[in-house]
Amino acid sequence: MVSKLPNVGTTIFTVMSALANKHGAINLSQGFPNYNPSDRLQQLVTDHMRAGDNQYAPMPGLPLLRERIAAKMQALYGANLDPEKEITVTSGGTQAIFTAIAAFVHPGDEVILIEPCYDSYRPSVELMGGIPVVYALEAPDFRVNWQQLGSLITPRTRMLIINTPNNPTGTLLRDADMVYLEALLKNTGVILLSDEVYEHLVYDGEQHASVLRYPGLYERSLCVYSFGKTYHNTGWKTGYCIGPEALMREFRKVHQFNVFSSVMPLQAAFADYMEDDSQYLGLPAFYQQKRDFFQKVIADSRFKILPCDGTYFQLCDYSAVSDEPERDFCERLTVEFGVAAIPVSAFYSDGRNQKLLRFCFAKTEELLLRAGEKLLAVSR
Ligand code: GLN
Repeated sequence: MVSKLPNVGTTIFTVMSALANKHGAINLSQGFPNYNPSDRLQQLVTDHMRAGDNQYAPMPGLPLLRERIAAKMQALYGANLDPEKEITVTSGGTQAIFTAIAAFVHPGDEVILIEPCYDSYRPSVELMGGIPVVYALEAPDFRVNWQQLGSLITPRTRMLIINTPNNPTGTLLRDADMVYLEALLKNTGVILLSDEVYEHLVYDGEQHASVLRYPGLYERSLCVYSFGKTYHNTGWKTGYCIGPEALMREFRKVHQFNVFSSVMPLQAAFADYMEDDSQYLGLPAFYQQKRDFFQKVIADSRFKILPCDGTYFQLCDYSAVSDEPERDFCERLTVEFGVAAIPVSAFYSDGRNQKLLRFCFAKTEELLLRAGEKLLAVSR
């Protein structure tokens, strides 16, 4: 048997969560909240199941849900979307990303990845026979130099993948980045895949620079969103993809055969729940408080806190504590000190070591406090 992904092992999120569970460590590795979705949302799912919403949803998603998504994107980003043709509900952000890549990347096509990036991008490109072309960002600021990135574009470039707010760095692309990007891609055939699953987790009064705000970019883009991140239910695996009609038509050709349609009672519940926009409008303040709390509890530790402008991830530099490579240190931190994190090297193809760890702060203050106490005990 010849593996289609010879260099791929088990995803780091599964590995670290399993290690945390095995050793009873506080799990700040894989990104998920340790609190529940609201009682109302849980009740809505139950009600829809009882009411008989248990068979296949329409392939592109429940019409009412797509209408509500369109209304939300109009209100937030000024986007004028046709819910019939430009929105497809997916089984999570990762599926939307995979489907978008499968729909557009031909064997031999080049796909530009900006690293560090989510670990599904590269294998998804490789499975389609695409060639990943890596533009690597460096700590501590992780800024994109668009001119340098532009030099990687060739006639074979099919796609560029961006992610803002960025997992794992916690950085944002801002208006100036998007304006530059739009100019860069003009007169090319490059498709932009924009992973915006952390759209609401933007802090200090900043605005999310969604591709949906830039019509000149949107016309070549597929944008990915996640209910799991927005409503605290990553295990419900539901999200959506937005793109112009011509691209969405191709996206759906693949979507219909790899999932057909996403979970019906969840879609019905989300459609009802989205009527109340306060649930997502309150998220920046909710998570900014957690970021600030976590930063405060580890302020006196030997971990150096990097800036975090968005997402629910905090990067820390541990060079004052250990010379070990990231993966080794992460495992020891889990086993010996009882806190699990993600090595940032897992987000780079070359596995480079910058002595950086990613901690997820989507946790109750009580848990963050306990994790902080353990991290304060770590010394060289
Ligand atoms: N996106 C989440 C993270 O970065 C995890 C996703 C997953 O585990 N597949 O932690």
